[in-house]
Parts: sequence; structure tokens; C-alpha cells
Amino acid sequence: MSALVPFDNSYAALPARFSARQDPTPVRAPTLLKLNEGLCEQLGLDPAALRGDEGVAMLAGNAVPDGAAPLAMAYAGHQFGHFVPQLGDGRAILLGELIGADGVRYDLHLKGAGRTKFSRGGDGRAWLGPVLREYLVAEAMHALGVPTTRALAAVATGEPVLRESALPGAVLTRVGQSHVRVGTFQYFAAREDEEALAALTAYVVERHVPAEARDGKSPAEALLDHVAAGQAALVAAWMGVGFIHGVMNTDNTQVAGETIDYGPCAFMDHYDPATVFSSIDRQGRYAYGNQPAIAQWNVARLAEALIPVLDDKDDIALDKAKAGVDRFADLFNRAYLTRFREKVGLWVPADDHAARLDEDKDLLTGLLDGMADHRADFTNTFRALGRAVTGDETEVRAALGAGADAWLARWRQRLAQDPRPDDERRGLMDQVNPAFIPRNHQVEAALDDAVAGDLGRFDRLFDTLRRPYDDQPDQVLLQAPPTPDQVVRATFCGT
Ligand code: AMP
Ligand code: MG
Repeated sequence: MSALVPFDNSYAALPARFSARQDPTPVRAPTLLKLNEGLCEQLGLDPAALRGDEGVAMLAGNAVPDGAAPLAMAYAGHQFGHFVPQLGDGRAILLGELIGADGVRYDLHLKGAGRTKFSRGGDGRAWLGPVLREYLVAEAMHALGVPTTRALAAVATGEPVLRESALPGAVLTRVGQSHVRVGTFQYFAAREDEEALAALTAYVVERHVPAEARDGKSPAEALLDHVAAGQAALVAAWMGVGFIHGVMNTDNTQVAGETIDYGPCAFMDHYDPATVFSSIDRQGRYAYGNQPAIAQWNVARLAEALIPVLDDKDDIALDKAKAGVDRFADLFNRAYLTRFREKVGLWVPADDHAARLDEDKDLLTGLLDGMADHRADFTNTFRALGRAVTGDETEVRAALGAGADAWLARWRQRLAQDPRPDDERRGLMDQVNPAFIPRNHQVEAALDDAVAGDLGRFDRLFDTLRRPYDDQPDQVLLQAPPTPDQVVRATFCGT
């Protein structure tokens, strides 16, 4: 009989202090609610086998399949700017790794699989609302083209989870290229464990940094550059779709550049850079417009943790650390401008990036400021720009109000300097300006139904979000921003 999952574990082979060996805690009555067949295929797993008794037992944490090496990873992290020297997987267990059909090494992680050495006062469990929320939003992000951890399965446990009230328990199977975080490096840096820092660096470089990107660099430099580049690309992608992560703590900053930890995240409706969704983020530290600066701050925390392994000489190590942080800023600025140029219909060759830089920044600022002044919907306004290219300016005019004439005239002048057929330009714009995002009020309504036992609304939303760049005329209601009474007051907080 072939194994359920052809595990090929590498993290478990690292020194004992990197993790705590821990089996998942079985649950009473597992029911498979969702299985991601497309992801099964990418991973080379058999969906029928995962739907079978053995498969569901694995996804619920009720059986440890052959070849797995379940463990809880040790990590630290800055939470809302405050350093916590020990966090770790308190309610998630790395079952093991596998090499996907695409040749990439993936982690299979069970979130909500019971207590571990790192649980502190927590119960090690998750409840259905946040589990389905992560399943939906992570897969929507993937369809939008944003690097992300994925959701393979959601299982109801048949057990209550006690929060303010008793809620239905669930386990999410999360798949990621890595679960190493900036906080993993901070864990060893805080313990002045240079040997572990070097071993972790070597591990991450070997696993994640392509050989050509290591040339002429020490492992720690290669790692820092890789994480800086990955975070720059990631946050530029978030900004382009109006995504607000909500908890950009260093323990939620993963080294492979994937979005991880979907807690109180949400997509912005009307454009306002100060938008915050998380009710615990009272200072707005993780507001939409702060995300680039925070990502850079997180990269700086990695650089700081790596100082002992960046160079023997302190001053040289510091210079190298600083270079990594500067690299983030350069790459982010470039990626952000490229993304937003595309969103307004401009494809500038990489070697012409600096040409018309100020002019283009002004053009974008003019648009975004106008949108902010009129509380214009971020997603719908950019999508409408594509229609403006082919002649229908109605929505853009409505979004920009009195300033529309002036802005549209400037925009048309700029487009004329990058001539291409209108249909072609609009087609390209429609591939970067989504028609559909998981709007928070729709997500909450779908989750309310799902928790009450009806997955119909969830499934419709999920299916629509699989093709976010396609017009889907029968789903136009999902494009509408919330009416005042639909605005979500408190977002599910992931715990
Ligand atoms: P998060 O907010 O999900 O990034 O989690 C922050 C830290 O709290 C991590 O160390 C988690 O493992 C831990 N944690 C969150 N929820 C629980 C829970 N229900 N039981 C145990 N640990 C938890
Ligand atoms: Mg976390």
C-alpha cells in the first residue's frame, strides 16, 4: 500500500532545540468540511485517499500517518512592537514535509491540533469561523496572484472550543513553502545561540534561496537579501489589491515571502490609507498605508538578529545589516510603482523605470488622493479605469468628483506616450485590477451561515473568488461595497 503522503522531512533533522516533538491531540468526531482538490493535485496527493477514513483521521490530527514527524516549532517575535522571547507553535503542528508534483518542498501544518509545549495558557485549538476564514481568504489571495500559504483542508472536530462562549472547533491544514519566520531567528538571537543561528541560516538558504542568488554572498547575507526581496514583493502585491494583513508581527513574517497567519485581515473597500480592521490594533500600527514601513521594520529585526553571523567584525556586520534593510526600500519602491503603473495602464520596461518617475508618482498620487477625498471604492475604481480606456468614464468620474476632468486629461496624455490599442491595454489592466475581492461583509455573512451549518453562501463566494480577474455578470452583487448597515464592526480575530 502506498503511503497517504510521501513525507520527506527536513526540519525534524535540525537540532532538538529548534522544536518540540508533539503529536496532534485526537478529536471526538472529525468531519471533513473542505478539501482543496486543485492543491491536492499540485502537491501530488490523492484527493480520494484524503477523503477516506485514514485521510480524514490525518487531517483531524487523530492519526499520525507513516513518515510524518509531528513537531511544534520554536520561535519568538515582536508583537505590536514588543519583543516576546518565546512564542512558538502553541496551536499548530508541523506534520511533516513533502515534495510537490511541482518539485517544490512544502510543509503540511495542522492549525488547531491541540496543546504543545508552547501553548502557555491557550487550549491549542481553533474554532470554525477563523478556520473557514483562512481557507477562503488564503485561496482568494492565491487566485489574485499574491504569494501565500495555502489551505488544503478544513475539518470540524465535533468538539466545542471555549472562547467568550462555546464555539464549534475545527482544524485547518495549512500548506506553505516554509514556516520559518523572522521570529525563528530572533528566538536564537535572544538566546545568543550563534550555532543555532548559523544552522538555521544554512537551512533556510539551502531550502529557499536559488543558487544564482547566493553568488558571492555569505549565507547570512544571501538570507537577508532573499527575505528583504520577498517582503518587498509581497507587500507591494498586498498594496495592489488593497489587502490589510492586520498582524504584521515578526512571528508572522515568513522567510519564503508568503502571506502567513490570516487573523483579523481584510480587504479595504473605500480607499483610505489609515484603514485598520483589527480591533486589537488601536494605534493603527498595521494600517494599510503603514504596511511598507512595518515590513521594513520587520526586515530590520531580522538583520539585527543576524548580526552575529553576518560578519566577525561588528562594524562590517552592521553595514551588511543596513544594506539588507536599504535593499528592502529600493525593491519595494520599485515593485510598488511598477504595480500601480500597471493598474493605471502603463507598462514601463524595467530599464526605463526611472524615466518619468516624478510625473508618474504625481499621476498616481492625484488619483489616490482624489479617491480618498471621495471615499471611492479602491477595487471598483481601478477596475473602472479599464472601462475608461475603452470609452466609458462614468464610474471614474463619479469616483473622483470635481477633480475628474483634470486627472483624466493628464492620464490620457500620459497613456499617449505609451501607445497601444485600447482593447489590449484594457485587457492587460483587467489582469491586474481584480473585479472581485473577498469583501469583509460578504466574508462575514458567508461565515455566519457556515457556522450555522449552511455552506451555500461560502461556496458561491469561494467559487467566484477563484476567478477574480474575470467579469462574472451573474455575481455582480459580490462586487458592491457594503452599505452603511453592512459594514463589519468587528473582524474575527483568529483565536
Ligand atoms: P497568532 O496570533 O496566531 O500569530 O499567535 C501568536 C502566538 O499565540 C503563537 O505562539 C500561537 O501559537 C499562540 N496561540 C494563539 N492561539 C492559541 C491557542 N488557542 N492556544 C495556544 N496557543 C495559541
Ligand atoms: Mg502567528
